[in-house]
Amino acid sequence: MTPAPKRPRGAASKAKPATAAAKRRTGPQVRGKATVSRAAWKRPTRDRVTRLRGRLRGVYGIPVERPHHDPIGELILTVLSQSTNDRNRDIAYLSLTSRFPDWEEVRDAPVELVEEAIRRGGISKVKSARIKAILEAIGDPLSLEHLAELPLKEAQDELCALPGVGRKTAACVLLFSFGMDDIPVDTHVSRVGTRLGLFRPGAPLEELHDAMLDLTPTGAAWEFHVNLLRHGRRTCAAQRPECASCALRSLCPRIAVDD
Ligand code: SF4
Repeated sequence: MTPAPKRPRGAASKAKPATAAAKRRTGPQVRGKATVSRAAWKRPTRDRVTRLRGRLRGVYGIPVERPHHDPIGELILTVLSQSTNDRNRDIAYLSLTSRFPDWEEVRDAPVELVEEAIRRGGISKVKSARIKAILEAIGDPLSLEHLAELPLKEAQDELCALPGVGRKTAACVLLFSFGMDDIPVDTHVSRVGTRLGLFRPGAPLEELHDAMLDLTPTGAAWEFHVNLLRHGRRTCAAQRPECASCALRSLCPRIAVDD
């Protein structure tokens, strides 16, 4: 039985729906999606990004970086995390790894048995087929340890060539498994980064990932990702961000947020 690989708390997660209490709270309102053309977009200066990172560090500290060295586990976890909460994802992961002692057995098992094992995680028919397709595509040996030795771009390309794997999943695997300098742009990082003027409003996901890498100095990926995430969960909520008490307020253009 193998528990799910340990990610930093709440990492690469989906936003929770706003609670009734949060909806009743007064505060800044969120406007519809703003967009800015590539031609009109001015990327943030290095100095402003450095000051933002410093403010975040002042509030949330420096998160401890603990790569877990379980890239396949991380990959399967991201498949299981689709359309469910963290608890059901972890239960499904535990059920899968209890039923099958290693990933080769999952790969070679009838898809119905895999589906049964992960049922608690929801849309198990789709996820079981995806998990098996990924494991089959990795081939023999069934290992991704070598990614840690590759240049970042090569490792990203290899992961993104697997069925259904995109930039966010690849970044989760590379950052949380090996501590490589890749950053998952999840819903919190995308929202906070856009409001802060780090990302071009309306940019597609691929561009967000490229922008995030471009803005992040070598060795700072883990800290920047985790602290933006914490800020998105605690202060810069999807609905009614707490701008009045926000430590980043004086550096924030508050894109698409009204008073
Ligand atoms: S000032 Fe408001 S919009 Fe800007 S980061 Fe803080 S909470 Fe978010």
